[in-house]
Amino acid sequence: MHHELIALALQSGAKKAAVIGTKDIVLSASFRDICRKNNCGMFGRCWMCPPDIGDIDALMDELRSYSHGLLYQTIYEIEDSFDIEGMSDASISHALVSQRVNDAVNPLLDRCLHLSCGGCHLCPRCAKLDDEPCRMPDKALPPMEGYGIDVYQTSKPTELKYINGQNTVTFFGIVLF
Ligand code: SF4
Repeated sequence: MHHELIALALQSGAKKAAVIGTKDIVLSASFRDICRKNNCGMFGRCWMCPPDIGDIDALMDELRSYSHGLLYQTIYEIEDSFDIEGMSDASISHALVSQRVNDAVNPLLDRCLHLSCGGCHLCPRCAKLDDEPCRMPDKALPPMEGYGIDVYQTSKPTELKYINGQNTVTFFGIVLF
């Protein structure tokens, strides 16, 4: 089944994908402190981001209840490291790939947990900002870092590299099963 899941992720638009053991996922509660610093501007501004997704220790325990993860990545070209618009477009494209991965692999899995990149990106303006309920609770995906995943250290032993050349931006997602 692992090969089938990888093939489905690639068909859904991921550049690379691999199945890893949950024991090989590097976790740290310190990611919640990083989120709190709010460098991305999403802390408390999206239903899928901290603090609204819940206590990080409970989320890490939930993650550990799965045995494997389908780790996948997308890579996009941007003009340069100041290309904020390009990065924003790329993050939206990644969110759409995550939705396609979701639709493709969900029918094969009895139980799964899908995590993607920071910020949900499904709505132009998250309903959280207007104190309204999430518009697509069945589709919205929380970020890997929100569950304490150290994406750099987790991807390091795999073929999915964290940095993929000058003027590129790389995003990750993982489906725990
Ligand atoms: S689906 Fe929309 S309302 Fe729900 S978390 Fe994502 S951006 Fe916010």
